[in-house]
Amino acid sequence: MKVLTAKGGEFQVSDEMRNMLALLEDGRLIVAKTYATNPYVRGFISRLNRLNVAHTIHHADLSVVLGYYSDTLAREKHSDMQMAARALFDLAVQMRASDIHIRVSKKYRAQIFFRVHNDLEFVEEHPFDYGDKLCSTVYQAMADVSDSTFEQMSRQDARISEKSKLPSKLDGIRIATTPQVDGYIMVLRLLYNDTSDDLDLKKLGYAQEQIDSIEYMKKRPTGVIIIGGPTGSGKSTTLQRILSAIIKETEGRKHIITVEDPPEYPIRGAVQTPVSNAHTEEERSREFQKAIKASMRLDPDIIMLSEVRDHPTARLVVQAAMTGHQVWTTVHANSDLAIIDRMRDLGVHQDLLCDPTIISGLICQRLVKSLCPHCKVRLSDRIAEYNPRDVRRMMSVLNIETVYVQGEGCTECRGSGIIGRTVVAETVVTDNKLMEFVKTGDRVGAIRYVRRDLGALSMLGHAIQKINAGLVDPFQAEDVVGALDLASAEDDLIIPPPALGEGE
Ligand SMILES: [Zn+2]
Repeated sequence: MKVLTAKGGEFQVSDEMRNMLALLEDGRLIVAKTYATNPYVRGFISRLNRLNVAHTIHHADLSVVLGYYSDTLAREKHSDMQMAARALFDLAVQMRASDIHIRVSKKYRAQIFFRVHNDLEFVEEHPFDYGDKLCSTVYQAMADVSDSTFEQMSRQDARISEKSKLPSKLDGIRIATTPQVDGYIMVLRLLYNDTSDDLDLKKLGYAQEQIDSIEYMKKRPTGVIIIGGPTGSGKSTTLQRILSAIIKETEGRKHIITVEDPPEYPIRGAVQTPVSNAHTEEERSREFQKAIKASMRLDPDIIMLSEVRDHPTARLVVQAAMTGHQVWTTVHANSDLAIIDRMRDLGVHQDLLCDPTIISGLICQRLVKSLCPHCKVRLSDRIAEYNPRDVRRMMSVLNIETVYVQGEGCTECRGSGIIGRTVVAETVVTDNKLMEFVKTGDRVGAIRYVRRDLGALSMLGHAIQKINAGLVDPFQAEDVVGALDLASAEDDLIIPPPALGEGE
């Protein structure tokens, strides 16, 4: 069957469109169910109508649509299921998904979701057997572990790193599976390789003054610089950019060793060491300690440790700083000053904790959604749709005239109203004065010193700047940074700053 929308066919369409539909010579228009209402698809149908091309619309699974475009040669090389998996990866990359979730359940069939801008989006549904076959193909035929068999009922981890099995924009895919009540779930983390090209922290969403303070941290020869934030707050991307920038700026004169579980992004010019073979927390911790100790013997200038989670690694990190290294790492913490509390919980002694040459920089970040500039709507035009109490509360800290909320969606944002995510952060270069407050447990004094004397922006203040600049929806920001009201702003010692210009 000839496909008119294939490359070189009678109907020229973009590659992206070929993932959504296929027009066959017998007049059948096969549309992937997921894209039934997609504006591009609707546009294509009206193009056919305008040209008086007779057609009948059939909805089918995505893999069926993609099947029409795959040539026979490719078919012979891979099984149909590998083709389907590959098509799924391609689609996920196109949508810039961070993860693919395949939930396989006897009761609810197999459902596939993508995580895009941190939200799960339903992609398609299949019978149980299809999902089961897809997962075992991914695990057994595509992952690096060729000797293992896929066991539904146990937790398994693997990785796909063979280039021929991956879309060109991916460096690898990390696979994790776990059983659930009547089936199991497989989560695929997509590791993009185009993240290292751009070293600009501003593009991640950092404010200029925060970039300046990170620059200052980079220049401190020793000490630990710690990035706090929950899982999925973009900490590893920030770390990767900072380290890549150091390598570029010093033209390779600094020896950087990373200890990661596992390396997420390539950092060209750094020696990246994976912590592997860890099946339990204890094993993992032991492997981590071994790897850090080994890295200290390898004459490094800078050590990066992907995360500090327990007392022994926290102690080693501090030890590395005391022996003259610059160390970068991350912890789970909700604010800049909470990072110090977290390190104390992890067993770092108070005297070391309060030494700014040992704990030299604190960065905390979260991600909020960026509004699509093409379809966002002024809050003042929608005000009737919101609870007046919410609006009043927000007006106490926001400049309502310049605030925008998420719109209906357009072709620029694939109908989502969102174009990506942006950082809201706080950064502090530690000094003796701050550490005095920490030593005496004077939290209010510490906050006042950081915000008033050092003039450091808080995460809430940073979010307010972005909301007032019309870049972020205030209701979505509240989910991430907490209540936008006078009480929080006062607790945080924020005087609402003037709005930023567009494009910040
Ligand atoms: Zn839009």
